[in-house]
Amino acid sequence: MTELEEKRIWDLRSKGKGYKAIAIELNLPTGTIKSYCTRNKVGSGKCRYCGEPIVQTPGRKPKKYCSEECKTKWWNRNRKIIKHRFIKPKFCEHCGQSFLPIKRPSQKYCSRDCYLDHIRKGENDVRSE
Ligand SMILES: [Zn+2]
Ligand SMILES: [Zn+2]
Repeated sequence: MTELEEKRIWDLRSKGKGYKAIAIELNLPTGTIKSYCTRNKVGSGKCRYCGEPIVQTPGRKPKKYCSEECKTKWWNRNRKIIKHRFIKPKFCEHCGQSFLPIKRPSQKYCSRDCYLDHIRKGENDVRSE
């Protein structure tokens, strides 16, 4: 197989063409195309979000989405399932350590101890004034 033929295979596969269609285009046996694609992991994957064929890059990890936009959309749609990945770390208002406000987004302290400690200190401040 020539380099040009290999390029054509990548190109056609990324457009969602089947082995047979490529074989006809390149005038090669279907089996040759099939084994080449399997061996080289020629991606023909469809976008997980919109179903459009994905343009794969030879030698790169196969992509799951046709575009960054679809990737974002897919993640947004599945946000509920993978919610915790979207939680931004906050800093405890008492000890300054970073933590993930998993229980409530409004969570201000990393732990109950910090919360109680903060309240206690706050009370002392008020009294000393
Ligand atoms: Zn897409
Ligand atoms: Zn803390």
